[in-house]
Amino acid sequence: MNTVVRDVSIFGEAIAYFNEAADLLELDSGMRQILTHPTRQIIFSIPFQRDSGEFEVFTAYRVQYNFARGPAKGGIRYHPGVTLDEVTALAFWMTWKCAVVDLPFGGAKGGVTCDPSTLSSSELERITRRYAADLVEVVGPDKDVPAPDVNTTPQVMAWFMDTYSMHVRQNQPGVVTGKPIEIGGSRGRVEATGRGVTICALDQMREMGIDPKRASIAVQGFGNVGLNAAKLFAERGSKVVAISDVTGAYHNPEGVDVDAAVTYARKFRTLEGFGGAERISNAELLVSECDVLVPAALENVFTAENAPKVKAKLVVEGANGPTTPEADRIFKERGITVIPDIMGNAGGVTVSYFEWAQDRMGYFWKEKEVNERLEDVLLSNLHEIREITRRRGATLRTAAYTLAIDRVVRALKLRGIYS
Ligand code: NAD
Repeated sequence: MNTVVRDVSIFGEAIAYFNEAADLLELDSGMRQILTHPTRQIIFSIPFQRDSGEFEVFTAYRVQYNFARGPAKGGIRYHPGVTLDEVTALAFWMTWKCAVVDLPFGGAKGGVTCDPSTLSSSELERITRRYAADLVEVVGPDKDVPAPDVNTTPQVMAWFMDTYSMHVRQNQPGVVTGKPIEIGGSRGRVEATGRGVTICALDQMREMGIDPKRASIAVQGFGNVGLNAAKLFAERGSKVVAISDVTGAYHNPEGVDVDAAVTYARKFRTLEGFGGAERISNAELLVSECDVLVPAALENVFTAENAPKVKAKLVVEGANGPTTPEADRIFKERGITVIPDIMGNAGGVTVSYFEWAQDRMGYFWKEKEVNERLEDVLLSNLHEIREITRRRGATLRTAAYTLAIDRVVRALKLRGIYS
């Protein structure tokens, strides 16, 4: 057995999942080496001027993990916890996510280590424009296509696209996805990741004999992914019994009024002070009574400590990397089904692909068409993963990695290794 040495980093933990699938595929050590090294890691400094006139410097990253199947693709994160290790892990996951839903993209991710809650809109714009300007040579519709992630919005994508277009002296909407519709964004992109979470969850619930109309759902995180997933679950008649954001969690066994929570969160940019539900801690939400649990915040949420207490039958990973390998083993032992991040949250990048394709054609689809194509892409690949679980006796996570790695390896072998 060829085993890649495991670190105690997020990227190291991510490689543990890769190794399991690589063992099943009997991947040779050369291919393992290639696929466990990022193609390019860029670290740079962003000097920017505060509204007060003072200067500050933030560290920024772009990791282009793999290009075998097409231009690199992956979001940009603005968060105080952003590190090279985290961005590399996220770029690694993007490689498998794009492959598992069969998109013609490689994987990338970017980030700036900053706290957006302390930044005004004009400060955010200056940081974004400088970040984009420093990356002009290495991004582009045929090179690397960023998108939104934690704390980055369609507005941030608009500034990125405008800066890039100014530098290359032509309008290039396809350089980023997740843009506002007015400047080349796709209908349905804002809701796409949350919609993908519900599409995968509902299909898996059917498979497990859980009636969506009787099911209770808990959602951790109430941003782009969590908010839209909660909204769509409620629209499908499921009972959302708990929601949360960074300020805390809100629990109501009779069902949280999701529309009211959405209105509240949009008005105050937080759930802090939201009524109609009992206030509990974020830790309590993760072990609360529910059928389906959707982590939609950050990494390393499920650990060896809380995994034995999780009561959900199904975990659908809206966030990237919410389950540590130890917790994953515990879920497996306890018979808790997990739809892994690379499948569960692939709705976002799938509609990003649709946006990129529409930008290149200059022809835009109706929302219904986007949503139908999204469902088709996700379900056909989820069903393929399920078939692998049956054939190989693997978990959905290992099966998803197996499918994704196999697709990347085929592309690499066809192209050949240029050495
Ligand atoms: P976001 O910034 O819109 O929202 C993040 C949410 O998580 C916020 O409500 C925040 O308050 C909450 N949060 C932060 N720390 C928390 C904590 N400790 N406990 C509970 N809640 C907490 O970000 P997003 O775009 O929704 O991304 C969430 C996750 O989904 C990330 O892992 C991201 O990588 C992943 N993801 C996002 C997309 C996308 O299209 N936006 C696509 C795929 C995956």
